[in-house]
Amino acid sequence: MIIREIASSLYPWDLADEPIDQIVDKLVEHSAVNSIYLVGVMHYEKRPLTSLFYTQNPKRKWYAPEDSRVYYRMDMNSFRNTRLKPQFSEREFLMHTDWLDVLTECARRRGLKAGAEISHTFYDTVKAQKEFPDVLQKDIHGRPFSNHFCCNHPDVAEYMRAIFYDTVKNHDIDFIQTCMMLFHVGKPVEQPWFQKDKADPKLAALLGVVTGGCFCENCRRKAISMGYDWDAIVKQLSELERIVTATPYHNNDVCIEFQTLMGSNLTEAGLLLEYPALFQFLEFRKKCITNLMKDIYEGIKEAKPNVEFRYNNYLTYPEFAGLDYKAVAPYLDSVRDSDYTEQRDVVDDFQYKRGTLLKIRRGIGYDKPLLAAFAVRPNATPEIIIRSIQALSTVGVDGFSLGHYDGSTNKLLHAVKDAMELYDIHLAP
Ligand SMILES: [Zn+2]
Repeated sequence: MIIREIASSLYPWDLADEPIDQIVDKLVEHSAVNSIYLVGVMHYEKRPLTSLFYTQNPKRKWYAPEDSRVYYRMDMNSFRNTRLKPQFSEREFLMHTDWLDVLTECARRRGLKAGAEISHTFYDTVKAQKEFPDVLQKDIHGRPFSNHFCCNHPDVAEYMRAIFYDTVKNHDIDFIQTCMMLFHVGKPVEQPWFQKDKADPKLAALLGVVTGGCFCENCRRKAISMGYDWDAIVKQLSELERIVTATPYHNNDVCIEFQTLMGSNLTEAGLLLEYPALFQFLEFRKKCITNLMKDIYEGIKEAKPNVEFRYNNYLTYPEFAGLDYKAVAPYLDSVRDSDYTEQRDVVDDFQYKRGTLLKIRRGIGYDKPLLAAFAVRPNATPEIIIRSIQALSTVGVDGFSLGHYDGSTNKLLHAVKDAMELYDIHLAP
């Protein structure tokens, strides 16, 4: 099999703590990496994520990033049409350097592809809650979600377009990747404790959507302008929300409805026929996300036509968040799937991983690059990584993406080269 790319993410603090050439030496030697990208806007998450302490960092044991800071310079003129402005690091060891320039300078010198990632969130969520609570998504009761921004809010839509545009305009990158959170998918509903059969995970996730978002005033206005009877949709979804949040002590008049529903073998199609508002709600959100992706894509191409827009899939059921790969395909140049089965007990022989990749592939078509991520961090073993790459060699991926250097070991990294040799996988020259 011929692939085109083996990518690795790097965080600004990785580059502050260890010389970038020393990092890249390891990635190239052990994993044949030919593409590096900076996680240039990172959410509030302790690093490393899946283990107590760093394995590669020579300076610190662990790190707690600030929320949603941008670690490279931006032209504030790009943000003149939105109340939301980028926030930068206030930490001495990070704040005086453009970390994306550090990464691209190294990539160019060594002939590697260079990219930037705007991760799950792109704005300080505490600041947003305090200063601009209207930009946050709302649940069906009007309560805001703490870290999901509504793309139907004009300030959010403009901020999202601008942050991609400006990153591409003012930095020498080949691709810009994002795993930005879309519509809040709610929480899959849980089977009542005394029902011993497991709830169907797809039905549980679909039902959970009514506990997600967004039900804000901007969504209402937009839906009505698109011809939806929004108030009727919300009325029917409210009835369903009462049912799926019922317990013997809360909404007990519909508790039996919930208990029988979860014990039944009703299909998702059956549910959508009973609650057409649920279908309309999903369809409305799909149209909104498709528009958002179109705006971002056009902004990127306006800045530099050759820069690639890559979505980094992290969703089990993207369509529940508004992401329909067939609908957004015209506005994506490539997709990375961030499944990290390798770091758990592999009980399904990578069936979930392969299924997700094929789902994305049939959505984006057969010509656009699809990269499969895998975990090179603790809990994975070289043997598991080799098995994973064997599975990937059967589903027509165009590249790999390592998650993540900060928790890796050289042995885990080297499993990539070992697997490529075993399964006859080559990088295109
Ligand atoms: Zn909204």
